[in-house]
Amino acid sequence: MKTKTININEIIYTVVESTDFDLLKSPNHFGLISPKTLKLMLNDNMALQTKKETVIHEVIHAMLWNFDAELSDNENLVNQLAMQLYSFFIKNKELVKELSETEETKRNCRAEGTKGGQRQMANHNL
Ligand SMILES: [Zn+2]
Repeated sequence: MKTKTININEIIYTVVESTDFDLLKSPNHFGLISPKTLKLMLNDNMALQTKKETVIHEVIHAMLWNFDAELSDNENLVNQLAMQLYSFFIKNKELVKELSETEETKRNCRAEGTKGGQRQMANHNL
């Protein structure tokens, strides 16, 4: 994963990709998130898509912990939400982009666009 930190309700977790199965509890464990160590462990022996799905799964665990630890232990609930949320992100890329835009990112995008335009013009002059 390119992203190494995740903000969940203003708590910063560090993403650690590892093949240390002791930390991941078992070789079949895809990931683990700990509110104590503030680490999201990912099994490094997985395809990127599986890692992405696992990140969403672990993030849902952490979100549920924030208000109901018992719900967080409901693996079936977490799996269902994670699968649907992953699919939602994939099927609604434009909406997800729009939802995640803030006034600050909009200003940065406009500045980037201008730079890109200048770069393109420079290339035309070559
Ligand atoms: Zn789980």
